[in-house]
Amino acid sequence: MSAFQARLTVDLDALAANFALLRRLAGAAEVAPVVKAGAYGLGSAPVARRLQAEGAKSFFVARLTEGETLRGALGEGASIYVLDGCPAGSAERLIASRLTPVLNSLEQVEAWSAARGGPCVLHVDTGLNRLGLRKDEAEGLAKAQSAQGGLEIAVIMSHLSCGASHDHPMNHRQAESFAAIRALFPDARASLANSGGLFHGGGFLHDLVRPGITLYGGGPFDHADPRIAPVVTLEAPVLQVRDVPAGESVGYDGGFTAPRAMKVAILAAGHADGLLRAQSPAGWAVFDGLRRSFVGRVSMDLIAVDVSEDQAPRAGDMVQMIGPDVLIDEVAAASGTIAYEILTRLGDRFETIYKGAVQ
Ligand SMILES: *Cc1c(COP(=O)(O)O)cnc(C)c1O
Repeated sequence: MSAFQARLTVDLDALAANFALLRRLAGAAEVAPVVKAGAYGLGSAPVARRLQAEGAKSFFVARLTEGETLRGALGEGASIYVLDGCPAGSAERLIASRLTPVLNSLEQVEAWSAARGGPCVLHVDTGLNRLGLRKDEAEGLAKAQSAQGGLEIAVIMSHLSCGASHDHPMNHRQAESFAAIRALFPDARASLANSGGLFHGGGFLHDLVRPGITLYGGGPFDHADPRIAPVVTLEAPVLQVRDVPAGESVGYDGGFTAPRAMKVAILAAGHADGLLRAQSPAGWAVFDGLRRSFVGRVSMDLIAVDVSEDQAPRAGDMVQMIGPDVLIDEVAAASGTIAYEILTRLGDRFETIYKGAVQ
C-alpha cells in the first residue's frame, strides 16, 4: 500500500447483499443488473463477475463498446443487453460479441431484421420521450409481426420518467400505457422498472427488472435508504494538520475565515477525485467516528476539514469522504446533485481495493 494515496474500497459482499434484497423484492421477476458506465464507476468486470457468481444471468450496458468489454469479462453464458441498440453500422459487431440490442426506433428494427441478428429487446416509449418506439409505431410493428414474423422479440421494455418519485402520477400513467402495449407482444417478456420502479412493486415488476443505483449503494428515491448497504468507501489521507489563527482565511478565494483559532487537516482529495466543488461549504468527512466539516472550497487535489474540537488526526491517517458514515446520497445532497453523478465522477488516482472479488 503506497502512503498518502486516497483509497477506494468497493465492497462486493455489500453489492451481493443488495442484489439479494432486490431479488426478494422482485419476487418472480428476474433481476438484471445495469452495469453501464463501468458499473456506475465501480468497475464493470469485478462488479458483473461477482453478480454473475450470485446468480445474475442478464446484464444491461449502454454502449456497444461496454457490451464488448463485458462479454470478455463474463464469457459466453451471460445475456448482455445494449441500451443504445443497433445504430447504423453496428449490427455486425453486436452479432460478433453475441450482444442483444435494445431496439429504439423503426430504423433500428429494420437494421436488426436485415442483419438477421437473432433475439432483441424492443423499447417502447410510454412518456419519457427519450428513446423507444411510439405507441402507434409499436402497434404497426405488432401487426407486421403477426402477419409475417421476422423479429425475435425476447423482451419488450419501457423506462420510467419519474421512477425516483414515490407517488408521482406519471408512474401510473406509464404503467397503464406499458400494460396496453405489452399485450400486443404476448410472447415477449416484459420489463418496466429501474431501481425506483422495483421499489414501487406490484404492477411495475413484470418479468424482468433493471436496477442500477440500488445495487451500488444509492437509495431508490434519491435519498438514503437503510435497506441498501453502502458499497463504496472513499478515504483520503491527511497530508498535514495546521493551526489557523483567528481571522485568517483558508483555501482559494478567501471563502472561509476562521472565526477563532482553529486546527485544520488538509486531505489529499479534491474535485479531480470526484468531490464536487459544490460540496463546500456543506460537506463533511468522518475521522474517529466524528463529522468534520469542510472549511473553504474543495480544490483540485485538496480539501481542508475542521479538526479543532476533538482528537485531531495526524499526517497519514485516513479520513472517510464517502462510505458507511458519509452515504453517497448525503454527499450528493450536499453537492446539489444525485448519487449517480457522485459515483460516475469518481476519479482514477486511487488505490482501488475490491473486497470479495471473484477470481
Ligand atoms: C440506467 C438505466 C436503468 C437503471 O436505472 P437505476 O435508476 O440506476 O436503477 C434502467 N433502465 C434503463 C433504460 C436505464 O437507462
